[in-house]
Amino acid sequence: MIVRALFYGLLLWLLYRLVKGLGPRRPERRRTAPGTAVRGGDLVQDPQCGVYIPVEDAVKGPGGTRFCSEACRDAYRSRKS
Ligand SMILES: [Zn+2]
Repeated sequence: MIVRALFYGLLLWLLYRLVKGLGPRRPERRRTAPGTAVRGGDLVQDPQCGVYIPVEDAVKGPGGTRFCSEACRDAYRSRKS
């Protein structure tokens, strides 16, 4: 009976997963989803490309504006003038 074989295969796989999962495993938490606050800092919006960046990572622009990169700052600056 092929269904029974599949069932036992699944059972074995579940057991394997259970045994593997017994050790203390820390989940990877390296990724931060876009749009979520990181490091508890304030997010500012880049007026050039519209992306949100944490204040401490932002590039300072003229008039207290913040940018995600120097390229954006320069583009914004040249657009203004
Ligand atoms: Zn930008």
